[in-house]
Amino acid sequence: MKIGILGAGQLGRMLALAGYPLGMSFRFLDQNALVCSSELSELLVGDFSDQKILTDFARNLDVVTLEFENVPASAITYLSKLVPFCPSAKALQITQDRVMEKRLFESLAVPCARFFEVNTELDLKKALASLGLPAVLKTRRLGYDGKGQYLVRDLPSALSAFSSLGKADLILEEFVNFQRELSVLAVRDRMGGQDIYPLTENLHSDSILRISKAPASNVSSELLEMAAGYAKKILSELDYVGVMAIELFQSASGLIANEIAPRVHNSGHWTMNGAVTSQFENHLRAVAGYSLGSCEAVGHSAMLNIIGSCPDVSKLLKHPDLHVHLYGKEPRPGRKLGHINIRCDTAEKRDELLEEVKARFSL
Ligand code: AMP
Repeated sequence: MKIGILGAGQLGRMLALAGYPLGMSFRFLDQNALVCSSELSELLVGDFSDQKILTDFARNLDVVTLEFENVPASAITYLSKLVPFCPSAKALQITQDRVMEKRLFESLAVPCARFFEVNTELDLKKALASLGLPAVLKTRRLGYDGKGQYLVRDLPSALSAFSSLGKADLILEEFVNFQRELSVLAVRDRMGGQDIYPLTENLHSDSILRISKAPASNVSSELLEMAAGYAKKILSELDYVGVMAIELFQSASGLIANEIAPRVHNSGHWTMNGAVTSQFENHLRAVAGYSLGSCEAVGHSAMLNIIGSCPDVSKLLKHPDLHVHLYGKEPRPGRKLGHINIRCDTAEKRDELLEEVKARFSL
């Protein structure tokens, strides 16, 4: 089984690492030559809109999937004629655009923040009048880790955000007063079989994910059913194959969907040491047409991202419940260099160790 992966960052690297034990081989395509999957497998470097590169990339592949969703629709249309593509062209088209994504939520009765498309100053003023303040102004496309968005608290800050974000192709969202952020990682196979991992609780700072904990605490069966129901509807509607992450806000009124990542996700890295089957292996099983592995958690996990600079690995590895995953990237401020997974047999021990690691290694 030879699998093509669009994008060759750390998610691609961890996909390949999960696929080798299954006898899979890989070919990556990235627009950048300095990527951290290059030491693992064949890498083609070129523009995603270059049909010659796409043709070379697709040669002798069994399936193409991705670790980076901002691939032009034209590339997916072209590739799909040459080789099966997962998760699905429709999933990519919708999740690349926050407005289309929110419309999908609405059409499936998945609760989401109220929103308006914003293309002019008048649109912005009308949207603010309807949603009130504060509100969140975002680009429809290409935002990540809080980039391409502003929390606006009054009209002058809204107008200045409008200018900074390019004055068109924006969305204004109602501010959600959430209690915590959760994500649901779900997987669907080629035959339509689905499963979900236990809900994950996510802690961000400066809009970057810092810590995930799973299974999330205080999850009632109703909450879990609600999340599973939303994931199921979305996966089926998109005819999706592979792992998907849905970011959710938990508020007093229940779960509110924020956005979909049509790929393996940072909030699922704990599954590498804390679930029967990791998100990476399950994504590959799905796209390769194999049966899914169990998504059950093994113990209580936490994941801490290593951002900017790397703590002393020899010190980290002295603790038997810590598992270190480094991506082979050069340190740079704000850059995700790796992550640490903690797995313990109780949530109390996990929380204690998490606090110790955060304090000792300044994470
Ligand atoms: P996003 O790029 O949509 O994932 O947003 C990044 C982060 O900004 C989220 O994880 C939230 O913490 C916050 N955020 C985004 N949208 C909203 C919203 N409508 N209301 C409140 N907080 C938000």
